[in-house]
Amino acid sequence: MGLFTCPVCGEPLRREGAACRCRNGHSYDIAKEGYVYLLPPNKKHSADPGDHKEMIAARRRFLEAGYYRVFSDRLNELVRDYVKKDHPVLFDAGCGEGYYTGRLRAFLLENGRKPEQFGVDISKSAVRAAAKKYRGISFAVGSLFAVPAVSGCADAVTDVFAPIVPEELLRVLRPGGLLLLAVPSERHLYGLKEILYDQPYENESRDTEYPGFAFLKRVPVRGKITLDTAQAVQDLFAMTPYYRKTPREGCERLARTRSLTTEIGFDFLLYRKVGEK
Ligand SMILES: [Zn+2]
Repeated sequence: MGLFTCPVCGEPLRREGAACRCRNGHSYDIAKEGYVYLLPPNKKHSADPGDHKEMIAARRRFLEAGYYRVFSDRLNELVRDYVKKDHPVLFDAGCGEGYYTGRLRAFLLENGRKPEQFGVDISKSAVRAAAKKYRGISFAVGSLFAVPAVSGCADAVTDVFAPIVPEELLRVLRPGGLLLLAVPSERHLYGLKEILYDQPYENESRDTEYPGFAFLKRVPVRGKITLDTAQAVQDLFAMTPYYRKTPREGCERLARTRSLTTEIGFDFLLYRKVGEK
């Protein structure tokens, strides 16, 4: 809990029994799963923002089945190779149910590193699932627009398909720290979109420039997956942005789909925070 800050006053939080407290007396209970809720009520746009329980369950089933393991493996290698410290502090912005950050921990420990990791996500269901499964990592429900974490604490920040708020990522990183963004490639999930939409479209290519960061490189990872159960098809759908915005005909076509082959692709974008190490 040592890297989290009070969402009200910004002071560091210290653990006291079953709660975290700042020096101004603001107090946050630690849930029985081990995470802390650091989303101030006025930052919520709904009673339960972010992905819901069923979506988190779908995401976990899909990820645990290994369809995106190739991306997780590459992320692990990139962090190992670009973050040289033995005890790095790693922050997962938009950690979801913890798949990437949990596998990163296991991988680094196997490689003789002892990372201190923390993750933040706006979805309480996601953070609860993450904290329950991945012990040894600190998780908080919080906003990526006002990350409840100490400035300059992180040696690396990973952001896999989560909202990118460059000013906040910059603030949390130490100078010289690594930023690793994962964004969808142009043809990521094209096979899914061919079912959902009469006229499927490619994803837009991302800009790579952010103030305060020096761009290092783009690492494309491409693959093809086949989902051969209706459940897996629906699980994939539930974890995409299309889930909330696909017209009814598309959803019906997908509901009849028993097997799906699609291209998948992540681009990892690597940066260093400008400044002295
Ligand atoms: Zn406070």
